[in-house]
Amino acid sequence: MALTDEQIERYSRHIILKEVGAKGQRKLLNAKVLIVGAGGLGAPAAMYLAAAGVGTIGIVDADDVDLSNLQRQIIHQTADIGKAKVKSAKETINAMNPDVVVNTYREFLTSENIMDIIKDYDFIIDGTDNFPAKFLINDAKKPFSHAGIIRFKGQLMTYVPGEGPCYRCVFKNPPPKDAVPTCKQAGVIGAMGGVIGSLQAMEAIKYITGVGKLLTGYLLTYDAINQEFHKIKLPSDTDSCAVCGSHPTITELIDYEQVECTDQI
Ligand code: ZN
Repeated sequence: MALTDEQIERYSRHIILKEVGAKGQRKLLNAKVLIVGAGGLGAPAAMYLAAAGVGTIGIVDADDVDLSNLQRQIIHQTADIGKAKVKSAKETINAMNPDVVVNTYREFLTSENIMDIIKDYDFIIDGTDNFPAKFLINDAKKPFSHAGIIRFKGQLMTYVPGEGPCYRCVFKNPPPKDAVPTCKQAGVIGAMGGVIGSLQAMEAIKYITGVGKLLTGYLLTYDAINQEFHKIKLPSDTDSCAVCGSHPTITELIDYEQVECTDQI
């Protein structure tokens, strides 16, 4: 598929990069990325992927836009309050880049629907704020970028099946219900979603174009108070993992009990 004159101009800053070029841009236009959560992480991730020309973007979110979301969820506007987040996000993306097809899923991910929703996508952005969804995404065994943000801290890692540890290799099981503060209780600084969500978009773009090294086998942490990033090497022994090890004990998707938090951070 040849790029149109308009696409050559729109994506000229990509095309001029020798690592991307027209070939890489065509890969982006043919790629399909699913974003779970149109919140603090999903908002900037979706906007950068749309701007970059990722041809198909899926967005999963069951919630409506709330006034308290707007401090960080920059894909939604004040006039969108009360609107489904997937609808608001789709409108923003469509206004930004007509090259992008947006598929919306106004529902929560469950063990029942996840395989059907993710099957057509190349890469998944975990922009969720709760552990049941994070483990569900991991256990579906698709390439994905995990991230979490709370207060002034953020973290992310990338999992590609067969290339390093998965989220469950590192975190084993969800913490007990109520053992961790919810996002509403703890708070989060607004730009944190922008920092970490943009890094997730970067991982997706690198995965699609094959440029550089992914964050597989590493956890990148960000501490905004001290303005410090740390790249922590994760244990490379995945053999004992209950999901991706050689003798898996978890062979079905699990719906863990949902922690009480409806606010996507
Ligand atoms: Zn694993």
